[in-house]
Amino acid sequence: MTLKSGFVTVIGRPNVGKSTFTNYLTGRKISIMSPKPQTTRNTIRAILTNELGQVVFMDTPGIHKPKNKLGDFMVKQALGSLNDVDLVIYMVEPIRGNIQSEDLEISSNLNEVQTNKILIINKVDKYEKKDVLNTIDKYSKLVDFKEIIPMSIIKEDNTKDIEKIIFNYLEKGPMYFGEDEVTDQPEKVVVSEYIREKLLLFLKEEVPHGIGVEVITFKERTNKNLVDIEATIYCEKKSHKGIIIGKQGSMLKKIGKSARLDIEKLLGTKVYLTLWVKIKEDWRNSNSMLKNLGYNDK
Ligand code: GDP
Ligand code: MG
Repeated sequence: MTLKSGFVTVIGRPNVGKSTFTNYLTGRKISIMSPKPQTTRNTIRAILTNELGQVVFMDTPGIHKPKNKLGDFMVKQALGSLNDVDLVIYMVEPIRGNIQSEDLEISSNLNEVQTNKILIINKVDKYEKKDVLNTIDKYSKLVDFKEIIPMSIIKEDNTKDIEKIIFNYLEKGPMYFGEDEVTDQPEKVVVSEYIREKLLLFLKEEVPHGIGVEVITFKERTNKNLVDIEATIYCEKKSHKGIIIGKQGSMLKKIGKSARLDIEKLLGTKVYLTLWVKIKEDWRNSNSMLKNLGYNDK
């Protein structure tokens, strides 16, 4: 049998479920997920290999109005990928009335893209059927989608055929990655994303989006099933630093422990994790800081 392969990009506003979707299909936790918007900052490629071939998913940062240089970078990454891929999956949540401005903008961008497009309407478990029907109606009038698929990833509702549908739009092609590779991101990047996920999970509203994580040491101890990892957490204010560390270090300990357990699962080894907290004012507008943290334009 001839194998198919191709690149698929998943776009949509923050928080609609893009990372949940790619993680569901590739079966492993690569992109971090959280109920807070803008969790995914860089494009992360996740790889699905099965008997039909190979799909490389680009899980893009959510598209939204940029507020600073980091936001700018995120939007460019998301839109820039559309013409170069084999299939675009656009993900939205059901709507009650009309399509809102950000999704109108994304849709008008999509109309200029030649690539085949599929619309996934996710989180149908949270909405009434008439909202889903309304959503299908509104979007089908706006963009020429090859398929419109209502879905609930969390309830695994209508997720069964999505792999097959995706392969329908791919052509015969080479396997770009090994059978057991699940991401092209260096382990260091995935580890820093895991740590950032815990920060988002455990900290209050305004702190997390001013946070960046950089893994500075990643060393395997010879002859031991153990990896030493050191990471720096950057935040924007002294008060934030206090919150991250917590009373007698309790918060940082909690974050560290929870991240360590995930990292150990990923690497299949014991991990010795050390976390540092540093203040770097306005790092989200500093080009050199963005580069250090891996938010490169190329
Ligand atoms: P992204 O910003 O588009 O990548 O969104 P995420 O994948 O990080 O998901 C955002 C939130 O939506 C998380 O809390 C998910 O658990 C939740 N979510 C994802 N899929 C579904 C779904 O099918 N139903 C419901 N109710 N929630 C979902
Ligand atoms: Mg995401």
